[in-house]
This record gives sequence, C-alpha cells and structure tokens, in this order.
Amino acid sequence: MGLEESLPSGVLLTTVEKFAGYARKGSLWPATFGLACCAIEMMTTGGARYDLARFGMEVFRASPRQADLMIVAGRVSQKMAPVLRQIYDQMPAPKWVLAMGVCASSGGMFNNYAIVQGVDHVVPVDIYLPGCPPRPEMLIDAILKLHDQIQDTKLGPHRKAEVIALEAEALTAAPTIEMRGLLR
Ligand code: SF4
Repeated sequence: MGLEESLPSGVLLTTVEKFAGYARKGSLWPATFGLACCAIEMMTTGGARYDLARFGMEVFRASPRQADLMIVAGRVSQKMAPVLRQIYDQMPAPKWVLAMGVCASSGGMFNNYAIVQGVDHVVPVDIYLPGCPPRPEMLIDAILKLHDQIQDTKLGPHRKAEVIALEAEALTAAPTIEMRGLLR
C-alpha cells in the first residue's frame, strides 16, 4: 500500500509534534555500549539476520555525543554505575534508555551488593525488556514499542505537563522493595 492510496489528493496534513516524532523515531542511533551477556544478543540484532538497519538504526555510535539511545545490555556493577551515568550525561537531548534483560531492569538473579538493583537507580529508563537474555526478536519488539512512545512524545509546554504527570504517577507507585516476588 502506498501513500498515494491514503492521500488521493496529494495533500499531507500533520502537526509539528507528529512530524518531529516521526523524524526522531526513524533516526535513533544507539550508543555502542554492552555490559554483559545480553550485549551478544544486542550485537546479533545489528547483524544481517535481524537487520536493525530496517529501522534506521544500523549506526551504533562509539561516541555518546552522536547517540540518542542507550541500550543497557547486561548487569550494571556499582563500579560501572558512575561511568554509565557519565555516558548518559554526554548524550545530547532528547535521549532514551532501554533496560535490556532482567539484570539491567532489576538486578535479576544477582541480588548482591556488587550489582545495581535496577539501572533506573542511575538513569531514567523509558522501556524495560524482560528475559535472560532477551532474544533479538524481543529487542526489536521493545525498540518498536519505544518508537511508538517517541512518535507520541509531546513538545514544549505539552511535554512539561506530561513530565509532571509522569513524575506524580511514579511517586505514587509501590517501591520495588515492597513488591512481593514468587520466592518471598
Ligand atoms: S539478563 Fe541474563 S543474559 Fe542478560 S546480562 Fe543478565 S545474566 Fe546475562
């Protein structure tokens, strides 16, 4: 199906917000940044079989200044946390973070003093991806869901109102420490 069928008159109407979202989601550049076993699946996603290039994302940047997506692929040690934060701070805004795998999302099976119990203690996370390790198909699915988020991102005063609402929602959420898992 081509654009011509949706737009028989040849006129395209949109909003600045939608256009900016469309441009941003189609040009995400991830930072080259892998921490543990999950990084192997992330690298596979960029290879020929899964072909992340289909989504305009084939360029993994070695410099955080040229990247706007941080895929935290693997467990984050306490020693690595300040380095991760520094890389995040060096990325230009707007920027997004994907916590890949249970280790990055919550510490996973490494419930000990050496591993950060969720990378959201260090940087704001936009999307969590479960699994150990998540398969490349799962990573692509998470990236496409992030694309949807980016497409719907507001601009200017609308964005400020959205951030305030999200913060208020986060403050009323149950702390992780109070959540009961299957083993407790
Ligand atoms: S989630 Fe599993 S595969 Fe990923 S870093 Fe942790 S242990 Fe490794």
